[in-house]
Amino acid sequence: MESTPSSSTPARDLKPVRTRFAPSPTGRMHLGSARSALYPFLLARRTGGTFILRIEDTDQKRFVPGAEQELIDGLRWLGIHHDEGPDIGGPCGPYRQTERRAIYHEHAWKLVDLGHAFPCFCSPERLDKVRQEQMKNKQNPRYDGACRSLDPGESRRRVKAGEKYVIRFKMPKEGTVAAADLLRGSITTDNAALDDSVLLKSDGLPTYHLAAMVDDHLMGITHVIRGSEWLPSMPLHMHIIRAFGWDEPVFAHLSVFLKPSGKGKMSKREAAEALKDGHSIFVTDMKGLGYTPEGVLNWIVLMGWGVSEDDFLTLDEMTARFDIHNLTPSPAAINFAKLDHFNATHIRSFRTEDLAARIKPYFLQENLEVDNDTLLKVVPLIRERLVTLDDCLPFAAWFFRETVTPKPEDLVGKNLTAAQSADIARQSLEILAGLPEITPAAAEPPLRALVERLGLIPNQVFGILRAAVTGQTVSPPLFESMEIVGKEKILERVRRAVEILEKM
Ligand code: GLU
Repeated sequence: MESTPSSSTPARDLKPVRTRFAPSPTGRMHLGSARSALYPFLLARRTGGTFILRIEDTDQKRFVPGAEQELIDGLRWLGIHHDEGPDIGGPCGPYRQTERRAIYHEHAWKLVDLGHAFPCFCSPERLDKVRQEQMKNKQNPRYDGACRSLDPGESRRRVKAGEKYVIRFKMPKEGTVAAADLLRGSITTDNAALDDSVLLKSDGLPTYHLAAMVDDHLMGITHVIRGSEWLPSMPLHMHIIRAFGWDEPVFAHLSVFLKPSGKGKMSKREAAEALKDGHSIFVTDMKGLGYTPEGVLNWIVLMGWGVSEDDFLTLDEMTARFDIHNLTPSPAAINFAKLDHFNATHIRSFRTEDLAARIKPYFLQENLEVDNDTLLKVVPLIRERLVTLDDCLPFAAWFFRETVTPKPEDLVGKNLTAAQSADIARQSLEILAGLPEITPAAAEPPLRALVERLGLIPNQVFGILRAAVTGQTVSPPLFESMEIVGKEKILERVRRAVEILEKM
């Protein structure tokens, strides 16, 4: 078995691994897929190794057109870049299993020749009858061995004659098999408890068991990191690998994802509910919901990796610290509050120019004209307040509007009448008009003095000005915002507020 690098090993001493992400294109790309890609990617990057994308599309009934592209787009958005794959090629291709039929065929028959597999001609109807009978007798349903001891020459003749067949693994009846999972240790199973599983189906395509073992071998995979739903198949996989006489890769089975309550897996209906809340378990929804790849990766990487929970990690930091031994087998409950936390934390860490470039499209989508100078000044004022990128709209879209239209009632100060508010707005206007420039340093002291003179609290006066200038009741810091908007527009807006208040 391969030795496995750990985080205490200096990077220069690590042996380059070959890892893979092997999704089936059977639906949308969810968090679980992203995590199944991320860990092997990190392991490969940490050791200077190779990360492969392999598309496992042999289950034609579950095939969903477009799913492969969604996976590739999702990986690219997250920054999980593969070194070999169906879209970029590589030395071990093809990387799409339906394009490797001949390889599986040859390997299935090789196992037949070695005496570890046999062709089976049983019809689905017969197998169904056997199953019914076994269930009636309270036995575990399994293959009854009807074709196990057919004469090999006779079997080949029937295959040549065009009879429909599958190839099954010839499971030993006695003995045990040990299978080691890096996170859970070794488990020994009685062979008598195992079935003669199908390796090659009657449509000529392999089952996962054969295809994945053959490909992991031919592609030189040293570390298999995959979902825990494959744990029960480990004994069969060990048998297949050993029957061929191949080296075993290291296996690590990841924990399952549970819904936020921690009770069971997330259903389709619950996923739809989450979307109404601005959350999603699907990677390709995340961008539209204003999440950043950095935030999503940080969230995902900690769901099943035993580093301190509050860790803020960039992809580079994850790579430097990643240790496959610290993966945990305990289930992870999806916690969207944590996603929000990490997204906001990463947004706060972005350089001004970077964040500006990321939020600009949201303004453009609203048909706003965005000049970059203004945008660069706005970013520092809103950075701390953004949980998702699209939060830039409620806080800052008004900066890019020629005019704002406050609701008249928002212009009325707290516990004040419209007439009193009009008077306060008029006095503020005089102060602002008398300033050479509206900056926080110039505008704040005289306006605070006004608050005191009138015996009011700051919010009453500044609330009126905020509504007048921004058109809304919540905004970035008032004086800094006023400086960006500029004196001319400010005076015009406050004057307009006075008019509205006088008419109320
Ligand atoms: N195609 C399998 C799945 O999507 C892959 C499991 C593996 O990584 O080997 O579940």
